[in-house]
Amino acid sequence: MNAELRYEGVPGSQLDRIRRNRHDDFGNAVVSRTSEGGEPLRCCLTIAGAGERIALVAHRPMEAGGPYAEVGPVFVHLTDCPAPGAGFPIDFRDRRAVLRPYDGAGQMLDGVVAEAGTSEKELARLFEDPVVDTVQVRNVVAGCWNFTVRRQA
Ligand SMILES: [Zn+2]
Repeated sequence: MNAELRYEGVPGSQLDRIRRNRHDDFGNAVVSRTSEGGEPLRCCLTIAGAGERIALVAHRPMEAGGPYAEVGPVFVHLTDCPAPGAGFPIDFRDRRAVLRPYDGAGQMLDGVVAEAGTSEKELARLFEDPVVDTVQVRNVVAGCWNFTVRRQA
């Protein structure tokens, strides 16, 4: 029995604030750049094509805080874009990924490296453990956060 999962990028309220203030929540200026293509976008959970207006900002995916609440760089669209749809983000299906699970107190559990095309299966397996509250999907080499997965409430 697979748990129904929700896939969360940077929250819309935070994106609005960053775009309006022209700096992120950590004081870094929002600098417009043109995508080369291939940048993972944490606003709409898509991979950028070439020529899109994007920015690199700092984001802390674990809002509750704690020692594991890392701040890291994320690409976002410079202006409004559609919210991510339901289901595993299609653009991320064929990428290798680090899947990092956390319990409800924000403590990190044993993670896995998912090979291309296996992230959904590995996520379902991780969520079979009732202790797993959220899983962060991250880049394999840079370790940057891509999105957070949690059980549907
Ligand atoms: Zn976007």
